[in-house]
Amino acid sequence: MLFIFSILNKNKDFINLIKVMSARVSYRRHVSYNTKSNKIRKVKTPGGRLTVLHLKKKVKSANGGCEEGCGQRLGGLKRVRSNKLASLKKRERTVSRAYGGNLCATCVKNRIIRAFLVEEVKIVKKVMSQKK
Ligand SMILES: [Zn+2]
Repeated sequence: MLFIFSILNKNKDFINLIKVMSARVSYRRHVSYNTKSNKIRKVKTPGGRLTVLHLKKKVKSANGGCEEGCGQRLGGLKRVRSNKLASLKKRERTVSRAYGGNLCATCVKNRIIRAFLVEEVKIVKKVMSQKK
């Protein structure tokens, strides 16, 4: 019974959604073309009026300063324009890892391994020179 009721309720929501989607609205700002920067979303106000929200452009996720050929996009960061970055919380700008929010995990791993190997080579060279 509850299941049927929930389906009916969902159906009602769906019908309402279709009503909102198909209703005709007009832009609220000056530009009257469907351009990339003039995207809208139809919303019902609490007063029952149908109006539009102007949406902001989507930003690509940060690429970071990873090594060449990585090209991986960084996760866990908020996707905003760079002028908004300063106003974000620290946890929205970074991930808690060395070089978090700047390099991807694979690149950090590679750097650590590389640094370790370089140190090892130095030690081996030192030992070899002492033997001679
Ligand atoms: Zn990377």
